[in-house]
This record gives sequence, C-alpha cells and structure tokens, in this order.
Amino acid sequence: MKTFLLNINRQGQIFYSVHTKVTHTKPYYTMKRAASSDASEAKGNKKSKQSSLLDAFGAGSTSSKKQKVESTWKSYGDAVKGLKPLSYMTCKDLKGSTKIAGFDMDGCLIVPKSNAKFPKNADDWKFMLSQVQPKLKALHGDGYKVVIFTNQAGIEKNKAKESDIQGKITKIMNELGFPIQAFISTGENVYRKPYTGSWDFMASNCNEGITIDKENSFFVGDAAGRPKDWQKGKKKDHSCSDRKFAANVGVRFYTPEEYFLGMKAFSRFEWGSINPKTLLSSAQNLDVKQFEDITSKDTELVILVGFPASGKSTFAKCYLESKGYVVVNRDTLKTQEKCEKTVHEALKAKKSVAVDNTNPSKEARQAYVKIAKTYNTPVRCFQFDVTIEAAKHMNFYRQLITNGKHRRVPDVGYNVFKSRYVAPDKSEGFKDIIKIPFIPTFDRDEEKEKFLHWT
Ligand SMILES: [Mg+2]
Repeated sequence: MKTFLLNINRQGQIFYSVHTKVTHTKPYYTMKRAASSDASEAKGNKKSKQSSLLDAFGAGSTSSKKQKVESTWKSYGDAVKGLKPLSYMTCKDLKGSTKIAGFDMDGCLIVPKSNAKFPKNADDWKFMLSQVQPKLKALHGDGYKVVIFTNQAGIEKNKAKESDIQGKITKIMNELGFPIQAFISTGENVYRKPYTGSWDFMASNCNEGITIDKENSFFVGDAAGRPKDWQKGKKKDHSCSDRKFAANVGVRFYTPEEYFLGMKAFSRFEWGSINPKTLLSSAQNLDVKQFEDITSKDTELVILVGFPASGKSTFAKCYLESKGYVVVNRDTLKTQEKCEKTVHEALKAKKSVAVDNTNPSKEARQAYVKIAKTYNTPVRCFQFDVTIEAAKHMNFYRQLITNGKHRRVPDVGYNVFKSRYVAPDKSEGFKDIIKIPFIPTFDRDEEKEKFLHWT
C-alpha cells in the first residue's frame, strides 16, 4: 500500500515522501503522574519533562502494535519527614485479577547494565534473563496481573531518588509492552517486604474489588536465603525477605532461576530469623496467672531489665500499673533526670514504682537503687528472660500491629544493650531477682495472625 508522509527536513522545508509500508517500531505510551509523588515534577523542570518523553516512547521494543498505556504514580500513608511510605503505579487500562504474578525488581527482573553491584543511574539496568520479557508477556496474556513489589529504603536514606525508581519502573513497563502495577516501599516501614503492607494495600485498593485467589497467585524474588555457592560461584543471598514475603502473604514462592529457567526448587535455604510458630508454641504452655500476685504489699522499687521490645512495658502495664505502681519510662519522660525525679516523688509519697527502661548495666540500675536506699525501700529486679531473636521479632511485630506508628528500634539499639549488659546480681542491692518469661498475648485474632508472620 502506498502512503504519503509529511516530512520536515533540518532546514525546515516541508515535503512529501512516498512509502510503501508504515510500521510503528516503538509502542506509544502516554504518561500521567500524580504531582504529589514526585518533587522534581512539581518543579516542572525541563529534564523531568524530557525524561518523561523518553519514558513515554520507550526503547528497544520491536512491537509493531500501537498501544496506549496511561500510568499514574501516587503515594500513600503518613509521611515521615515529607516522604510517604508507599509509592505505587497503576495503569488506566489495567484490570483487576484473581491471579497475581508478583515479582521483586532488582536481581530478579533486572540487573545493572554496568555490572556494578548497585545501579549507577536510573538508566543502568537491563533484563536479568532473556526469558523475563516473554514469560511476563505470557502471564499477562493468561489473565495474570503482573505486579512489582520492591524495597527501596535507599529513598528514605537519601541514597536513591524516588523519581528515578519510578522512572525506571515505567521504562520496564514500556519495554514489556503491557500495563502492570508496581509498589515501592520507600523506607523501613510496614510496606517493606517481608511485611505484607504493599500486598494488602494492592489487594484492598488496587484490584477493582476482585478477591485474589492465592492458590493461583505467586511471588518471585532473589532474596531467598540461599547460602554462598548455591550455584557454583554465586554469592549468598543478601536476605530471605522475598521468600518470607510470599510465606506471609500465603502464596507460592519461586527464585528467579526456578521461575524463569525452570531450575529445581532450592531447599537448603535459611530463613535467617526466628520461626514465629516455634516461638509461640514454646510460650503457650506458660501460666500467666502466676503474675497476678507478683506485686508487693509494702512500698517497693522494681527495676525491669530486658532488650527493647522484650515485653517490659506491656508487663508493667498489665501487672504493676493496674495495681497502683507508678511506671517510669524514659521514652515518655525523655530524660534520665525526669525519671529519677519521678522515682523520688513516688517513693516519698509511699507509692511503689517500676522503672521500665532497658537497664542493661549495673550503673544504670544503681542510679535507682541509690534513690530507694534513701527512702529505705526494698528493691526487686524483674529480668526479662527473652532471647534477642524473640525480642527482635516482637520489635517488628509491634511496628506491624501499630501500622508503623511505633517505629521499630534499629539493630543498633540491640547492639548497645548487648555491649553494656551485665547480668543483675543480688549484690547490687536487690532483695530478689525474678525472671519473667516470654508471654505473648493477643487482643484480637488478627494480632495473632500477624505475630505468625516471618520478620
Ligand atoms: Mg531483589
């Protein structure tokens, strides 16, 4: 078929040319982004517009079909220092589905083109395997919704730009040639794998109300807990968070090699954290009634000792504060001075008091023992017999059930405790040292379900 094309040459002259066939070698996309999610766009800078145009026309695809995919980036959740915890992309023409094909991004769908460990810029990427594009396209054709779930805590740490990651994902979609969804966790929040926040948000808000069939859905990722040399020359996986994420969501899991190359399922992996089921079953036999009369009739001072998130505050609230003890907590009172002042005031008024801080060292405990001596008040120590693994699990769990309002204590908090820890001894002036075991209690079934998530 002969076609007349209108052309403009470099000198600006207009002329017609005759072609026998017209082929669009690149798919055509339009893009629309939510202003709230992208600071560089809010400024409307030239570079951003240029890159959006580049994004819009993609690169390298050989599809001859003219397509129009309208994608939108949005942000969700309570902002911390101006950054929302979840950034997500949906497409106008993308239908909800009962079948979800979930994928991690880095080290799963793509790797740096430069072969560097981390991408040097937003364009430093290529599909990890030649099978990625055809496999994903087949899934799309098969009625699956292809969804990327990616942890990008570098955004919160100012090591990566949110707009760069968004742009990269849009380009990946352009290369794939069909609409997908993507969820970026921007920091150490409840949308970060292995937490299920991103999946839950997708299921409730971005699937057109369609219930997901978990039996027929799956997730693929490279953070699978595989040891060094899981395949000759391969490094140890940086974590097991993708495998845990799939387990927490309740869908099948594959490594990229299993999914794209058909490799046999790898069984010698390590979860890398405590199994919450084991933790719960070991604690279930405890009789909590034993704590109901743990208080003293006479005025006393109780010093709690234990890792962050080992259950000290919950215990103090349930078994001490409810019986009239004054609870002193540095998180609430802010300074050591205020904590000591409150202890003074309570003992002066003949009120029993409990110091709910981590109190790892003899020095930390002595500060309060000294005060008790001036009032001739006996002192007991309640030592929380909770392993660091269990406390760390509780730390994540607390963040999860408060929907991120109680931010988790970073690892450094645990390291400081360990480095300063000296086991409490009666010679410090304690009338008694009582070991408090790990006692998980749940107000609702939903909390128990969340407790059983891998962290
Ligand atoms: Mg990865």
